[in-house]
Amino acid sequence: MDGNKQITVTSPLLPDLEEFHDMLREIWASKWITNNGSFHKQLEKELAAYLKVPYISLFTNGTLPLITALQALRITGEVITTPYSFVATTHSLWWNGIKPVFVDVDPATCNLDPSKIEAAITPKTTAIMPVHCYGKPCDTKAIQEIADKYGLKVIYDAAHAFGVEVNGESVLNAGDMSTLSFHATKVYNTIEGGAMVMQDEVTKKRIDYLKNFGFANETTVVAPGINSKMDEMRSAYGLLNLRQVDAAIAARQKVANAYREALRDVEGISFFDDMPGVRHNYSYFPIFIDAERFGKTRDALYQEMKEANVLGRRYFYPLISEFSTYKGLPSATRENLPVAHKLADTVLCLPMHHDLSDADIERVLKFFRK
Ligand SMILES: *Cc1c(COP(=O)(O)O)cnc(C)c1O
Repeated sequence: MDGNKQITVTSPLLPDLEEFHDMLREIWASKWITNNGSFHKQLEKELAAYLKVPYISLFTNGTLPLITALQALRITGEVITTPYSFVATTHSLWWNGIKPVFVDVDPATCNLDPSKIEAAITPKTTAIMPVHCYGKPCDTKAIQEIADKYGLKVIYDAAHAFGVEVNGESVLNAGDMSTLSFHATKVYNTIEGGAMVMQDEVTKKRIDYLKNFGFANETTVVAPGINSKMDEMRSAYGLLNLRQVDAAIAARQKVANAYREALRDVEGISFFDDMPGVRHNYSYFPIFIDAERFGKTRDALYQEMKEANVLGRRYFYPLISEFSTYKGLPSATRENLPVAHKLADTVLCLPMHHDLSDADIERVLKFFRK
């Protein structure tokens, strides 16, 4: 065993190669390689059942369903969103000519703080785009109450929330639509891929048109759609990964438990525990470093780990509001986003995936042992 092999922050869940090969043979034989083929149909069916959602549409990645959801709901003007996320969340607004309005997050969850949303609403506000950051569910009830009060749509970027449930109910059923990413780095992947979850059949149909150029049939284009169809190879790959995703989540939970047990009494390190009633997916393991109490800054720790070939990730640093495109926005100031800045400046995501051995976990924890 190579005691210094690289430990990455994530590692893709890969299907059995022989089984994948068998499915590829089927695809080759059918010569139906994309455009709502049989594996595509089967994956939509199996995913809807697994995720406990009424309707789902597959996409080629997790960014296009965000862009398409905004199109489908005809969102314009201003949208309230979180700066503490992956850039794609805000980019989807930009691609629709919508002005992002950043609202600060709740330190208890890293999610949009509902108590700060109302103050950011203007006559131009049309929607709220929250993120279930690290797969931790947003306060969907509080967000929906605000949305209903002001007549706003809610689109959840649920890229981190695959399989997350609150009291047995999928978190993906909150709001008007939720979007998922099946990128290689996520809990469940189709290499590249994504999906949109919706609550009624009419919307499902409309989204299926929109992700196929707007074609309703051979000769009718009902809207200026985009192309974001998932192909048969990745649908087959996705079917195989769906069979092993529960085992992968269980393996991640073991890693989370080991981290928590070891870090619980480390001065200056904080992390999240499971939330009551929530089925978590253990997609990330963020820790927050109080440099004074821990005796080392986040960046010093990150660097030290990197030199020992243990790769953490500073998710989400810098904040989206700090990138040049968004920095000039009135809501992008440090004063408006104190909590998000504090989290971004102190966060480090530890290696978290299904394939970490006890020895790997120990190599990560070494940096926290006295
Ligand atoms: C991964 C991710 C996306 C984008 O998904 P892709 O499949 O990479 O396009 C969007 N939002 C969040 C929060 C993500 O983590």
